[in-house]
Amino acid sequence: MSRVPTVILNNGIEMPRLGFGVWQVPDEEAPEAVATALEAGYRKIDTAAAYYNEAGTGKGIAESGIDRAEVFVTTKVWNTEHGYDSTLRAFDASLNRLGLDHVDLYLIHWPVPDKDLYVDTYRALEKIYADGRARAIGVSNFLREHLDRLADETSVVPAVNQIELHPQHQQAEARALHAERGIVTESWSPLGSGRGLLKAPVIGAIARKYDRSPAQVVLRWNLQLGNVVIPKSAYPPRIAENVDVFGFSLDDEDMATFAALEQGRPLGPAKKK
Ligand code: NDP
Repeated sequence: MSRVPTVILNNGIEMPRLGFGVWQVPDEEAPEAVATALEAGYRKIDTAAAYYNEAGTGKGIAESGIDRAEVFVTTKVWNTEHGYDSTLRAFDASLNRLGLDHVDLYLIHWPVPDKDLYVDTYRALEKIYADGRARAIGVSNFLREHLDRLADETSVVPAVNQIELHPQHQQAEARALHAERGIVTESWSPLGSGRGLLKAPVIGAIARKYDRSPAQVVLRWNLQLGNVVIPKSAYPPRIAENVDVFGFSLDDEDMATFAALEQGRPLGPAKKK
């Protein structure tokens, strides 16, 4: 089992380039799913308060027997908790459910511009970071205008922006912006949320060429763009398959074939909430 390569975040800490996403994994199933992922070689877990499985996720990590320092844990503050004090309280509650004394990455799940509180929320993340309770802080689903406001009104550059990114929604502009600002792009729904994408004949043909599965070539494409990926699966064989994507590379022609799959729109609501 080979080690997942890492990226160095803008504050110098190391983060695996592939992690296990646990959205839609029920809390009672999370310990086993997380243990399976850790056993398969994942060292990064992506949860959120809104997934209602932080407790099960923490249990899976604790019971895995793997040193806590070896596992990169991300969680996120939910939309209902925006604001300085409520974010600090939400973070305490997340740590408590996870059974941890710190997380590796704490993200604002959505900017919720209508509330106009994300700057205050981010200041709470800065406090959490300064106190050493999150090794890095960042955002999710932030558009350029939201990142601009953080740049103008706060001091810590987000380490990560976690956004929807898969072959049908490739986010070229956001990737370029993040690269310019030293922000790592993390792709959510990297498999297109398991909808039609993995059955597309063009992806099947590329998969056959490398003797890999459609999911593997889709993840490989995303990694070769320079992004971090966090695929989710509830099934042990798929969990193992999705982390086994570092022993081959797609050639330029196949990268170009992927580039042509862009549909220019998200699966989910881009400006939700
Ligand atoms: P993914 O793109 O990871 O796709 C998951 C789906 O693909 C599931 O239905 C899964 O089914 C299926 N699948 C997984 N592996 C394979 C495989 N090898 N072959 C065939 N099918 C497969 O979607 P998600 O939407 O779950 O996104 C991944 C993670 O991103 C989430 O778990 C979460 O951590 C994060 N996320 C963050 C968001 C944000 O707003 N910040 C929003 C959405 C997601 P099965 O489980 O049955 O195998």
